Amino acid sequence: MDPSAMVTAMRTHTCGELRLTHAGDQVALCGWVAHRRDHGGVTFIDLRDREGVVQTVFHPDDAPVAHAAAQELRGEWVVRIMGVVRERPAGMANVDLATGAVEVAVTSVEVLNRAETPPFVIEDRIEADELLRLEYRYLDLRRPEMTRGLRLRHEINRTIREHLDPLGFLEVETPVLTTATPEGARDFLVPSRMFPGSFYALPQSPQQLKQLLMVAGQDRYYQIVRCLRDEKPRADRGLEFTQLDVEMSFADEDDVMAVIEPLYVRIVRETQGVDVSTPFRRMSYDEMLERYGSDKPDLRYGMELSTFTDLFEGSGFTSFAKVAADGGVIKGLVAPGGAAALSRKELDRLVEDAKGRGAAGLVWIAVEDGGALRSPVEKFLSDEERTGILERTDAGTGDLVCLVADRIDRTNVALDGLRRDLAARLELISENLWEFVWYFEPPLFEWSDDEDKWVSNHHPFTAPLTDDLEPRTAKARAYDLVLNGFELGGGSIRIHDPQIQERVFEVLGLSHEEIDAKFGHLIRAFRFGAPPHGGIAMGIDRLAMLMAGKDAIRDVQAFPKAQSGADPLMGGPSPVDAGQLRELGISVLEPPRAEGER
Ligand code: ASP
Repeated sequence: MDPSAMVTAMRTHTCGELRLTHAGDQVALCGWVAHRRDHGGVTFIDLRDREGVVQTVFHPDDAPVAHAAAQELRGEWVVRIMGVVRERPAGMANVDLATGAVEVAVTSVEVLNRAETPPFVIEDRIEADELLRLEYRYLDLRRPEMTRGLRLRHEINRTIREHLDPLGFLEVETPVLTTATPEGARDFLVPSRMFPGSFYALPQSPQQLKQLLMVAGQDRYYQIVRCLRDEKPRADRGLEFTQLDVEMSFADEDDVMAVIEPLYVRIVRETQGVDVSTPFRRMSYDEMLERYGSDKPDLRYGMELSTFTDLFEGSGFTSFAKVAADGGVIKGLVAPGGAAALSRKELDRLVEDAKGRGAAGLVWIAVEDGGALRSPVEKFLSDEERTGILERTDAGTGDLVCLVADRIDRTNVALDGLRRDLAARLELISENLWEFVWYFEPPLFEWSDDEDKWVSNHHPFTAPLTDDLEPRTAKARAYDLVLNGFELGGGSIRIHDPQIQERVFEVLGLSHEEIDAKFGHLIRAFRFGAPPHGGIAMGIDRLAMLMAGKDAIRDVQAFPKAQSGADPLMGGPSPVDAGQLRELGISVLEPPRAEGER
């Protein structure tokens, strides 16, 4: 941006843009009083606007009226000052501040607005309670750090648009009032006044609409779109979130990846100044689970998992032998230097953590000098098992081997958690490293204990890899992009044949009547010449969170909900008056217990 674009009738410059090159310039600045200090009769005011902070100086001899007025100014008052930029006196420059070489000698000041004392100090080292910050979000957002978050998001969105436009993608908006799409979460419903007793659903994603755009011959679509899912918010997932939603016709997996990879390279380059190489790594879903125990592994460090099930078949270590005999697995990892770094208490804590993650337990084995093993189960291990463990893991002196024996899913969850935990504790994670990896060919279906039936692993519009639609074995033409242990997004090649689409719905347990009622429109559309197509949706909040180096997506959203899902700023969700409910034909039952607490 050219700073002169921000000149208005009231100001000649922004506070943040002033440098030594401006020395001698007459300026008019507008902004908020960030700090006031008095030194030997001279008043200093740090003036803040979105672009930064500059020191202004009120001298009682040079500008007595302005100096007197400055005595009234309080934090967060909005003022306009006129003055002259000058170099700060020798030794007074502030290298931590972009404007730190200069100050503005004030000639006059005008109060544009007063402010009440804010409920917390507006500065980056903030300690205020998060709920208070959310309630007064407009004050929180005055902090430079928050501005950086908003700007970063803006940069991401701008980069997306600049990247996709020359590739022939049309930005098409889809409705917010729509009907349910099955993305696997609960819908937010909107009652219709004109159709009493009927409801719109807010989109969990524009999945069906983007596919219909392909049937409509629109070829390449994208949208930066808000999606809503009524599920418990977490640090990295909110009730509403923003996706980059993409769909392409006549495209396969490689085509979709070829659009997405350079976009992410560009985003990392522009926001982090780091060049990431392409193509990104790719791994089958099965291989990823085998090697990392997770479908979103962090590849910034090693500690790959190894399998030991065969080693413990018929073992004298009976608990492991039993797991092997019962169809479970024994998998483990080596933490380099872990034995040397962790105390006995910390090692025992790893066992509790594994239990906390749902596994039966964990066995740790510390490798000591000369390959001697120290472990609570040391006496149960045969010589062959000892050598097997050392050989397969390549563990050396000071390393820590951790083994988990359980059902495959529980073992993987426990080892994935352990791997992440140890990487952080043993400081194995390099800064500013961006490790992208795709997985492909995940299962088409997964068993849902909650629903007691097979459900789609991605969504029901995903094309099967082959003719196989048997729920236990069928694979999908789906893919997910993972970055540093987080899922950035995913998509699939879609079904475009109405018959295959109906068969998938049948596997999901839908009757013909249900298919017709819920998805008749889509199947009908497919009968009118649907092109082969596929696409992807990428989460923008999570990407911005990672690029900003934050732990919560709330830190990179302008007006987020609190962790509970409530909105402390606007007061939602809130009861509505009886008249409104009557119009909608709704009566509210006394809720048994509110799910989100305020
Ligand atoms: N609609 C899917 C989702 O939101 C992504 C896709 O398949 O394009 O997860």
